[in-house]
Amino acid sequence: MSEIQPVISIKTDQQVAIPGKVVNLLGLDRAGLEAFFEAMGEKKFRATQLMKWIHQLGVTDFQQMNNLSKDLRSQLAASSCIKNLEVSKDQLSSDGTRKWLLQLSDGNHIEAVFIPEDDRGTLCVSSQVGCALDCSFCSTGRQGFNRNLTAAEIISQVWLASQLLEGEKKLCKGKYGNRAMQERLPTGRKITNVVMMGMGEPLLNFDSTVKAVRIMMDDFAYGLSKRRVTVSTAGVVPAMDRLADVLDMRLAVSLHASNDELRNELVPVNKKYPLKELMAACRRFIDKQNSRSRITFEYVMLDGINDKPEHARELIRLLKGIPTLMNLIPFNPFAGSGYYTSSRKSVLRFSEILHEAGMTTVVRRTRGDDIDAACGQLAGKIEDKSRRHRRFEQPRYGMK
Ligand code: SAH
Repeated sequence: MSEIQPVISIKTDQQVAIPGKVVNLLGLDRAGLEAFFEAMGEKKFRATQLMKWIHQLGVTDFQQMNNLSKDLRSQLAASSCIKNLEVSKDQLSSDGTRKWLLQLSDGNHIEAVFIPEDDRGTLCVSSQVGCALDCSFCSTGRQGFNRNLTAAEIISQVWLASQLLEGEKKLCKGKYGNRAMQERLPTGRKITNVVMMGMGEPLLNFDSTVKAVRIMMDDFAYGLSKRRVTVSTAGVVPAMDRLADVLDMRLAVSLHASNDELRNELVPVNKKYPLKELMAACRRFIDKQNSRSRITFEYVMLDGINDKPEHARELIRLLKGIPTLMNLIPFNPFAGSGYYTSSRKSVLRFSEILHEAGMTTVVRRTRGDDIDAACGQLAGKIEDKSRRHRRFEQPRYGMK
């Protein structure tokens, strides 16, 4: 593991000169920007011009936007800003995974992670400061909850990661004399996929999540196809229905248990929306999607808790008729969690049973655990408003 210092210098708030209410254009999707320009008496197509400048060219200084008139540029600078999060820490794992600790304007911190693979680069973004759901095996949950992220704060993670990753080639040459370090950097690797699997429950921050996903998928912004954007939920059933009405993207459901008794313990939101309702919502979701694609189910393998053959068989019955991609995730331990990672043998046995029943099953590799960037290890630095962390002896597991 190593820390990347100094971070590429990105000036993020050149335009925040005007006190009072200044709209951050970073978080407006196409419809939002069109409405913004129309309210200014401008033509709608300014929206796509601006999106290209911000998201494709990485320009945040209105004065550089030379296809906008000087007048319009000044008007924009007076009424709006393009403000990103501040990069507080930039860490690189020995496997190439990169994690950023990002500071929000209220002093809280969240995390975003980039996972390079042979054929893709996946960015894992956060949707909330902490998480209110309190899943028993997740270190983000242990920290408690502070607030929802705005759409601008969500999309800023994508903006910064794109800029930092693409700027790296140049940066490497100048700043890293060490050849080994240069070779390990995922140089110039572009983001091909975004997963909303960082800190928080995206479906409890519905409107901002939808806006941010729309920007990710907009051809004038990041242009990601619907197969390459995944929203992950612990199972907030009514919001799953609303989501299917407004967006066509991939859905991941954090399942982790094959029956209600166990799931109530591991994923407490299950008490509100039990498995029967969750499965019905998954079926409705698939029916509503144009592409009728599969749902990804995440299942963290906890030694002796949910990893027995009978659990696998129960899962097969539970998911009958739902087009499924099952991701078996090794539990990433953290101090005081009280859980252990399942043995390799148990995971293989479990996956074999699912496989034999015809379920597409993938055993995930743990990535970035040396910098606490793996699933469930994201912790940021948050001021807990739920006071949950006081229940635990060590409030901020996994924080570096
Ligand atoms: N709240 C959403 C988004 C977070 S996604 C959701 O629950 O889907 C983060 C994923 O990592 C979830 O599947 C979560 O259950 C899983 N996870 C949490 N803690 C983990 C841990 N310690 N080890 C492995 N996976 C974990």
